[in-house]
Amino acid sequence: TRRMLVAGNWKMHGVNSDLAEVVAISQAGGQGSADVALCLPATLIERAARAVPGFAIGGQDVHQAAKGAHTGCTSAAMLLDAGASLVIVGHSERREAQGETDTDVKAKAEASLAAGLRVILCVGESDAVREAGSAVETVDAQLAASLPSSIGDAAGLAVAYEPIWAIGTGKVPSLDEIAEMHSALRNRLVTAYGQAGEQVRLLYGGSVKNSNAAEIFGVANVDGALVGGASLTARDFLPIVEAAV
Ligand code: 13P
Repeated sequence: TRRMLVAGNWKMHGVNSDLAEVVAISQAGGQGSADVALCLPATLIERAARAVPGFAIGGQDVHQAAKGAHTGCTSAAMLLDAGASLVIVGHSERREAQGETDTDVKAKAEASLAAGLRVILCVGESDAVREAGSAVETVDAQLAASLPSSIGDAAGLAVAYEPIWAIGTGKVPSLDEIAEMHSALRNRLVTAYGQAGEQVRLLYGGSVKNSNAAEIFGVANVDGALVGGASLTARDFLPIVEAAV
């Protein structure tokens, strides 16, 4: 059985005065509850990791190279050095704004796992693809091309299905649409990794909030959530964590 994971993605939000929310959110969890993590802006990772030792702090992107002439970029070793234990790769905002390809995302995931970071790998379709009726085949192909070629421990990888049209919009797919997509992605993981593919967690992301979390968590093959806006405060985020039992 897969333990639930509820991860927050703060995106480009958060300065020193927001560390109080990190501390409050870190009080969640414990035995019998979901795993909880916060993926913070790079500038806050070290301060947050010092403020809440033992709580999972992550980055939101990583460079695939170990080091080198890559101005503005951060390696997996640097994230670990700052106190991160996980990282998001392939978020649609980076695929779109930074032009990241499936090949880039795969390389980032492989570099991160090799360095000892856990990975949340994101996939998801646009509005146009959903309207055209090809969401499942498109996202399945995206996942197949983005997955690391091997995983050591299946607990090191989670996949987040985030329909682009659901991010920050208040729109969510129907529960049937989520079930259909997650079932296809589970099959892809098993094709890629055999039995270990059954242990990889599949998160849903896109306008998750307190009012819809429980029903989404009830869908087959939904093993948690990747939460944007509603992860910025303990008041909004902790009820979502509590819904994941
Ligand atoms: P929202 O929860 O704000 O829709 O963002 C989802 C997301 O992109 C998380 O990575």
